[in-house]
Amino acid sequence: MVTPIEPGPALTGAPPEVLGLERLHPEQRDAVTHAEGPLLIVAGAGTGKTQVVTHRIAWLITQKRARPEQIVALTFTDKAAAEMESRVDQLVPYGLVGATIATFNAFCDRLVREHAVELGLTSRLRVESQAEILVFLRERLFELGLERYLPLGRPDTHLDALTALFDRARNEDVSPERYAAFAAKLLAEAGDDPALRDRAEAEVEKARAYARYESLLFKEGRLDFGSQIRLALRLLRERAHVRREVQDRYRWILVDEFQDTNHVQFELVRLLAGERRNLTVVGDDDQSIYRFRGAKIENILQFLDVYPDAKQVLLKRNHRSGQRILDDAHRLIRGNDPARMEAQRGWDKRLIAQRVDPATQQALAGVVEHRAFASGRDECEWVADAIAGALEAGTARARDFAVLARAHTHLDPFALALQARGVRYRRVGMRGLYSRPEVLLCLNALRAVADPDGGASHPVLGDPLFGADPVDLARIGARAKRTNRGFMRIARAAADGREPGIEPVARATADAVRRWSALHAAMCDTAVRRPTSEVLYQFVTDSGLLNSLTSEEWGPGAAGYASSLERVQNLNKLFGITTRVGPLLREDRVPAFIEHLDLLIEMGDDPAAADIESDEDAVSLLTAHGAKGLEFPTVFMVNLVEQRFPQYRRGEGLEFPPELRPGSLAGEAEDAAEAHDREERRLFYVGMTRAMDRLVLTHAEDYGGMRATKLSRFVREALDLPAPPKGAQAASALESIRRHAPVAEPEPVPFAKVPDGQPLTLSHSQIDDWLTCPLKYLYAHVAHVPLAGDPVFTYGTAIHHAIKIWHQHQIKGLPIHVDDVVAAFEGAWSSEGFLSREHEDRMLEQGRAALRRFVDREAASRVRPLAVETEFKFKVDGDVVQGRWDRIDERPEGIVLVDYKTSDIEETEKAEERAKKSLREGQLGLYALAYAESRQVMPARVELQFVDSGVTGSAVVEDEHLDRARERVRDAAAGIREGRFPPRPDQRNCGYCAYRVFCQYSAARRA
Ligand code: SF4
Repeated sequence: MVTPIEPGPALTGAPPEVLGLERLHPEQRDAVTHAEGPLLIVAGAGTGKTQVVTHRIAWLITQKRARPEQIVALTFTDKAAAEMESRVDQLVPYGLVGATIATFNAFCDRLVREHAVELGLTSRLRVESQAEILVFLRERLFELGLERYLPLGRPDTHLDALTALFDRARNEDVSPERYAAFAAKLLAEAGDDPALRDRAEAEVEKARAYARYESLLFKEGRLDFGSQIRLALRLLRERAHVRREVQDRYRWILVDEFQDTNHVQFELVRLLAGERRNLTVVGDDDQSIYRFRGAKIENILQFLDVYPDAKQVLLKRNHRSGQRILDDAHRLIRGNDPARMEAQRGWDKRLIAQRVDPATQQALAGVVEHRAFASGRDECEWVADAIAGALEAGTARARDFAVLARAHTHLDPFALALQARGVRYRRVGMRGLYSRPEVLLCLNALRAVADPDGGASHPVLGDPLFGADPVDLARIGARAKRTNRGFMRIARAAADGREPGIEPVARATADAVRRWSALHAAMCDTAVRRPTSEVLYQFVTDSGLLNSLTSEEWGPGAAGYASSLERVQNLNKLFGITTRVGPLLREDRVPAFIEHLDLLIEMGDDPAAADIESDEDAVSLLTAHGAKGLEFPTVFMVNLVEQRFPQYRRGEGLEFPPELRPGSLAGEAEDAAEAHDREERRLFYVGMTRAMDRLVLTHAEDYGGMRATKLSRFVREALDLPAPPKGAQAASALESIRRHAPVAEPEPVPFAKVPDGQPLTLSHSQIDDWLTCPLKYLYAHVAHVPLAGDPVFTYGTAIHHAIKIWHQHQIKGLPIHVDDVVAAFEGAWSSEGFLSREHEDRMLEQGRAALRRFVDREAASRVRPLAVETEFKFKVDGDVVQGRWDRIDERPEGIVLVDYKTSDIEETEKAEERAKKSLREGQLGLYALAYAESRQVMPARVELQFVDSGVTGSAVVEDEHLDRARERVRDAAAGIREGRFPPRPDQRNCGYCAYRVFCQYSAARRA
């Protein structure tokens, strides 16, 4: 039985004009104002899909059909979720924030953590990325029970294929038990047939490895992305009371980009919607382009089979492209019939251009051209010339152009050609963190620690940070090779003039060698005892790298600011990798870390580098995947030949048994080659529909391969070409010479301010940091300057986690022993930042003892919390403030908000003072305001509980505290929006500031 929906006073809320409903088309409005029950919105490219979803959320809230917290909108990327949230925040009136808008993974992560107890997972859960899982598995390869898939000469050969297989199994909702049962059945049925036996044995081995992998993962409290969703699904399936609770909490479900959901995601959504069936899905089968990561187009194709009574809305009015572009794209995509909704449902999905051509006052026609070239070189030079010519003539801006290819590598020559003409460009969505100079420098420094005699010191010394002469370095390198001696040994001898085979080195080289040699020795010393991240931190601070990146005046408008910011963010990403990968290793030390990282790099792992928002007027260079959701006046789709676009089909590393795939298209076994072809066609369609006014399709006959290339079948289909065109265009001699012109240096890029009207999202620490020192805010929340591991932070996080586990059991009435609480504390522990093993042991012991006392106190107390670790969100003048209350109590005097602290306050008087101060001008004031705003109830008191001593400080909440907290939010928001981050040095604040080590303004350092 489902709790009935509270009858909402339909259409009695805000009038339609508040939401701008009158500006929507009738069919958009129809979708937005659909009352109850399932709704399928098929939204073609450029038809305002996000606008419809966000208006629907806002409509549900303002019409009082749903309270914000009853709505969950799911999407695929953090960026899409943030954009949707920001748009909803702008649409709904003051105070009505709180809808859950998240990625599938973030939503499932929250569900699983909240109910970890029900799933038997009491320790702290860590979600590992794909690369981290590879490291984790490589360390445990011999525990997976592998034989044929574990060649002893190179045991990690199948590592990548194995993780892909496990992922596929989870996406298809196949548990290890089901896989094992299937494999056993195959074996039993194989009889004496050698081929059948061979296949069955292979499946038995794969099923065994899958089961062991999952159990290893859970035993260590780790999750990968696939298991996150499957655990959430298991929770809803197996725990009826949790299912009821979750269904009652989220009564309206919306899914964006539904065509990209995989099998388990649709299962999860169906369970969430339950009997209420208030499920809205938005998508377009023609834009389903993520099959390689498990997307199942059948979900959208067969949605109406699952929900036959669903309301259907087809959005066809395109606000982006000219009609010719839309018609050619439509001609192409019809090549996917009959595996399309249009063919299956008898719909007409031809998009109708809505933009008006100012010259004719008619619907915009748009231009589609095709250009053929003799060589790839000619192709990219022509594209670059066309763009540079338009910029020179002043007929367009750089940002009006996009160059789209199937793969990032295809874009490299276009980048060079644009650069040679001094045209600024952006590589959108390109990975490449490991090849960024600042990251490469750090990795080489770590490699030099892992292998002191190797050559990694060479690039370190050659970096401008050390500044050794390159000719000297080449001589030292050659000498090391000839004499078979370590690079640094020769370098040191050469710097002291003691190396007979080498001419005296330049002074700069001698200085660089001495400096690096001393730092290298210190790093090696640290590396013996401490984790990789600490060695890395030693390098970035002691080498002066961080200082050099932050010593200029920072802030939007400052020359070179954006590039320094980007470099610091890249370093921060590298720190993120060391702190996450390190604990997966049996021993977190530099040599093991470097060995694993180099393996990952070899396997093609390369995380995205920082991509800061800038006001840069630049040409976008991007892949068709990266172009999804974007639009440009002119799009060049390049390298359109067979094997490039469509890309050749890679085989599945380890085949997932077709028998275990739930219902493939039309009940038939999926033809992998055809499915690949259809997916590539959809990708091409997505590329074409990015163009607003002009779409240029280009290809060349020669890309340097052995044979001439063939024009992509997609160009022929789109343009209805009978045969490859003749007369490919070759470059003139003059053009060829021009290609060797020196490359122009790009100018510094201006940094983007927060646009007016765009709401900020602020937390307590952001507000507090800005008010303390705007530069500190910049370091912490914009640049993400890396910091050394902090034992106080580790201690506090682990204590909070253990307390949460205790309370969760208490609230649910489940038994829990003090040893479980201590185990949760130990599980959340990290070894970083401690001075020594002894230091760490003592803090661990201190935490265990504090928790035992805490449990004693709590067990004796009659007060049970109303809720723990509860998130909040509210608005102040349009900006959103978010955070989390540690604990909410309902006591005789009213609501009491409790915050746990791990600092060492032992006297009640001091605790009272701290609580009052925090209520007046800090965290507790903000938390009280949050409660009053989001729950419309004034909390009676706020409390600080000091876990170690058991001392409590409390303060009564008054109106003036809320006013003051509101003022603080306003002050910080105004400053952040203005985009200036001046330092505010102060003896006390700088003394506590983690950035004082390199901050040139630090009062603590100058003192
Ligand atoms: S050290 Fe002082 S001036 Fe520098 S960021 Fe920190 S608080 Fe600001």
